[in-house]
Amino acid sequence: MKISKVETAWITVPCDPPQGLSSGDITMSTDAVCRITTDEGLYGIGEARGASLPEICRVIAGEYTPLLLGENPVESQYIWDKLYRHKLAGLTPPEQSGKRPDWPAMRPYQAALAAVDLAIWDIKAKARNLSVCELLGGKPHPVVAYLSKAFYVEGQSLDEMCREAIEELERDGYTHMKMRVGRYGHEDAVRRIAAVRKAVGPAMKIGVDVNQAFDCETAIKTCKAAEEYDLMWIEEPLGRAPKGADTKKADYDWDACLGEIAANTSVPLSSGENHYNLRDCNSLVTKGGIRYMQYDATKNGGATEWLKVAALCEANGILMAPHHVPHFHIMLSAAISNAFIVECYDNKRQHPAWPHLFDGFPEVKNGLMECPTGKGWGMDINEKFLKKHGTPVAWDFR
Ligand SMILES: [Mg+2]
Repeated sequence: MKISKVETAWITVPCDPPQGLSSGDITMSTDAVCRITTDEGLYGIGEARGASLPEICRVIAGEYTPLLLGENPVESQYIWDKLYRHKLAGLTPPEQSGKRPDWPAMRPYQAALAAVDLAIWDIKAKARNLSVCELLGGKPHPVVAYLSKAFYVEGQSLDEMCREAIEELERDGYTHMKMRVGRYGHEDAVRRIAAVRKAVGPAMKIGVDVNQAFDCETAIKTCKAAEEYDLMWIEEPLGRAPKGADTKKADYDWDACLGEIAANTSVPLSSGENHYNLRDCNSLVTKGGIRYMQYDATKNGGATEWLKVAALCEANGILMAPHHVPHFHIMLSAAISNAFIVECYDNKRQHPAWPHLFDGFPEVKNGLMECPTGKGWGMDINEKFLKKHGTPVAWDFR
């Protein structure tokens, strides 16, 4: 079996109203997609995010496609290594230092690798008439989901934010949720956490995403103040460049700073959505003091790297709580021993494209995301929707 065609396209659909993090507003639901076809007619799909969408597609179409054509998709690790060596190996920091890499240069290559790798795993599973979950030795089963919600929305009061969240939580029976803080400093963060805890009651598990808004001192202060609200986790409390730190200096270590926060609070920490590969995650696991790993298969290296990160975490007593894209993470989570939860959304507000772009998009029922039972990822790309809303870079509509 040989790869005979690689297609890619991107799609943006507006979020109305924009959904705010500490760092800014999410105005669009965005995805780059990839479809790889073999000479035997089998095909697989993948998705990528976390970089400029046209850049991701350019890398897939212009740089990775010539390296992929003629390869056997069953040889997924070999292909991953081939693509990694093409560019990423040269952009990776030379030592395991916690030093941040040259993200702008790496991101489209990492994301493009993710989309290709996911499509290859789709083919690998379909070739054996299995789901990806079954191929990995897992039994497809529902996985605990959390509703990622409570954004900063222009003109929305705290009461309205809580009401909207509760409506969604109740509709799908969620027992876990996540909220955003950090845009307006420490006091606003604690006020928001207190308001949500009061509104949803004591039984709801609450994660709090700071999206890297704070310096180390503020992060510790907020984590300590949040201890009384019985949180599931605090996520990425620390900014890339805490006050006074020089990130260019070799002695600046983001993961070690996170570890300092962890040592000063009883609230569990989560991180990993912005860690780019196994080696980077190893630094986070070793120094960061996290309880939950949020490595994202669609931003960084696909299923191949995600599974290695999951094993690393299993060896260190850390649970997987992958960031975003639950429709891909569900099968990976159902296949490993240390899965905790998948991140789901109020799709009509946060991800209006997803349920239409992916036929077979899994649903949440009673707080659990259903695991698709079809072959491969159990989904297909809806070409009608892609044609209407997407930008094909190299795509032959069927
Ligand atoms: Mg986050």
